[in-house]
Amino acid sequence: MPETMPTCTEMGLAPDLRKEAYRRAYGENSNNRSMPGRRHKRYWRRRVRLRIRFLNGDPSLHWRVEEAAMAWRSCANVSFVFGDDPDAEIRVTFGEPALWSYVGTDALLVPAGQPTMCLGVLTPLSDDSTVRACTLHAFGHVLGLTHEQLGATGWGDDLTDAVAAFAEEIYGRDRTAWHREPEMTAAEEPTTGAGGGSQESFTITPPAPVPTPELSEERIRLDVATPAQVYVDEPFDLAVAVRQPDAPVLAIDDLPEVLSEEGSVFRPADEAVIKYRIEVTGPDCTVKPSHYEILLRKGANSPPRYFQVTPHEAGKQTIIVSAYQQDEAVAAQTRVRIEVLISAQTPAPTRTPLVMTSLAADPLKGLKGPLVDELCKLAVTDSSLGRSSLLDGIPGADSLNRDENIRRLDLDLIVTQLAQLGRLSGGQMAIAKLIDNALPYASGYEIEERLRAIQQQLE
Ligand SMILES: [Zn+2]
Repeated sequence: MPETMPTCTEMGLAPDLRKEAYRRAYGENSNNRSMPGRRHKRYWRRRVRLRIRFLNGDPSLHWRVEEAAMAWRSCANVSFVFGDDPDAEIRVTFGEPALWSYVGTDALLVPAGQPTMCLGVLTPLSDDSTVRACTLHAFGHVLGLTHEQLGATGWGDDLTDAVAAFAEEIYGRDRTAWHREPEMTAAEEPTTGAGGGSQESFTITPPAPVPTPELSEERIRLDVATPAQVYVDEPFDLAVAVRQPDAPVLAIDDLPEVLSEEGSVFRPADEAVIKYRIEVTGPDCTVKPSHYEILLRKGANSPPRYFQVTPHEAGKQTIIVSAYQQDEAVAAQTRVRIEVLISAQTPAPTRTPLVMTSLAADPLKGLKGPLVDELCKLAVTDSSLGRSSLLDGIPGADSLNRDENIRRLDLDLIVTQLAQLGRLSGGQMAIAKLIDNALPYASGYEIEERLRAIQQQLE
């Protein structure tokens, strides 16, 4: 369970649409008929296939949301098809720092092109458990579950038994997701001798062995990329990607050191995606997050996942990257392990005086990192245009040295240069103005408090 969960809003339709909403809901599933004094239900029909389209947002988040949403498939007889279908029933925006969704079939009444769900509380920096919790919750609404049914405290990065049972009651259980469970396989097989009614001919046959699904082996390669130089107590990025053996080696700016190891995964013939887990540990390091669970598609390279590693001791350090298919039967056979040897340096002597002078004269008082971190979490900084909008009212903002493509770098450049600008003619610090412009986008979230705290410390 993530530490803090954002507030979620169940979006409601305008009153003049409710009659039509009921007509559509009833047409979709006759269990939705209204009861006196109660709001009509908004479930989809069983075996519904819902198309889901992301209207914007970071591609790495799309992937993670898709992975998390799949958990519903294991208890509900529905399928989510992610893609770019213009007629997608469910349309997801990341355009505002909020969490909301229409409930069930109400989504059918939302005008085409308009979002039916907002996951803007998530950013590429959100940890896995937050992504999972928000996604599972929001897709609960997609399936027609209200807060009452999801449970007031139903936030978690896994579906609770109660919620899963509820979804099963509405949609039935998705048998394909359980086909490897012996008792289900047995129940689905025609029982010889049972239909004929001839008791005499009944013979006890030994239970048939549970058929193992046909597995095909696929070769993959794990790539791990790290910076050339790392320093004690300074976090650095470590990127891990699962790639095809013949794909070019992972190439990421600032992470030139790449280690690779080949391995295998085993895919049941009927599975489009298989679950794969990547863990990173280091004896004298802090690693965030500790692991990712990703989905592997046949023949596809996964986008890189980023771990933030902070070495706490100087000298040689071993960081262990371990990855395996998340299926008990094959986990051991599929494990790939890479040891990354890094040499963590204490900031070099030549650097020290520089750091000290710049600290003394640092108008940001060491707050640059935290400020850039917070700004990165806002959906508005996702685009270069959005970042420019935070410069409103700051003279000379047009002439700043910028990087349009890399969010963090761009924000870093903006913050550094604004700090050098000092105060605006009105007496306010340029940086404080930037924070002012950012605050409306953080309104009501913890980011708002942290931004205000930074702003106070600057003055
Ligand atoms: Zn909700």
